[in-house]
Amino acid sequence: MAIDLTSKEGQFALEVIQFGAELASRIRFESSVKSILKDDCSPVTLADMGIQAIAGALLEQYLPGAVLVGEEDSDHLRSEAGADDLEKVTGYVHSFFPHARPGRVCQWIDKGRGKPEGTFWTIDPIDGTKGFLRGGQYVTALALIKKGAVELAAIGCPELELQNHKQLGKGVGIFAARGRGCWAASLDDLEDLKRWVRVEVSKCQDLGLARLLDSFDPGHKNAEKNLRVCERLGITSPPVIMDSMAKQAALAAGDAEIFFRTLPGKEPGHREKIWDVAAGALAITEAGGRVTDLEGHELDFSAGLTLARNPGLVTTNGLLHDAVLEAIRQVAVC
Ligand code: AMP
Ligand code: MG
Repeated sequence: MAIDLTSKEGQFALEVIQFGAELASRIRFESSVKSILKDDCSPVTLADMGIQAIAGALLEQYLPGAVLVGEEDSDHLRSEAGADDLEKVTGYVHSFFPHARPGRVCQWIDKGRGKPEGTFWTIDPIDGTKGFLRGGQYVTALALIKKGAVELAAIGCPELELQNHKQLGKGVGIFAARGRGCWAASLDDLEDLKRWVRVEVSKCQDLGLARLLDSFDPGHKNAEKNLRVCERLGITSPPVIMDSMAKQAALAAGDAEIFFRTLPGKEPGHREKIWDVAAGALAITEAGGRVTDLEGHELDFSAGLTLARNPGLVTTNGLLHDAVLEAIRQVAVC
């Protein structure tokens, strides 16, 4: 494999997705996974908080001076109402870090309060929390950003099976590094560098055969516009519905050709969070695909916590990208 997984950055990223997948899978097997509603009404679970704490602890171990920008914070766990949850999260983290104590766990989670400037890591401990709760797809997504561009990506996908790489089984880790390709391995075998396989996007050039991916959550797109874009493209087969960045992992590995996100009718000013996009974007481009916003512009990760300058998202195998952008443009003007 062409990516150095023995470097401190490589080891950090590898262990974040390995430990993250282990903890998420373990919590999911518990009888009922508790979810808490955040201020924006999106759900968060103790797994989200536990995985971000693990990432903070690993950062301290491997890259003590590095900056982390994470989706979660410890506000709930530090509150009176969160005391029981803090005990549970500490118990989870303790099985990976025996020196975990409630105060340390909160500090590790809050390592994710770094500023998104210059060189920094960004993590979504569980992208697709709704999928995690429902028994669908979810991932742990980690990316290293330097001067607005993604340099390294690691995506742990515990529920994903790559159709072109069935030998890896269910549960895959995806790694990409700028200029070094996109790679996949079984989450059970990440340490064995011989087991990593290079993945590439599909070579399909025929819109009639193109496979489309779509979000499970109807609130994350303008469903009517999506339909009209598909009509213009002549795509008649129904999309494969998946939560989370598992869509981008599947596209990078050639299991689908197109995923685009239009702006929700009720929220046309919505912009993606950097941790929801960065790792998947590098995985796709390093696998030979293309990633832009709805207007065809490159993504700019130097605008803060969101992709403030990039409306929506278009990800394809590259060969079909211009056709998708043109269909989106036509639907927007008519
Ligand atoms: P999905 O691809 O629909 O599974 O969503 C992946 C991530 O994008 C999740 O973390 C969502 O919270 C986020 N997301 C995408 N679009 C929206 C939106 N319109 N409003 C809130 N969150 C969104
Ligand atoms: Mg997310």
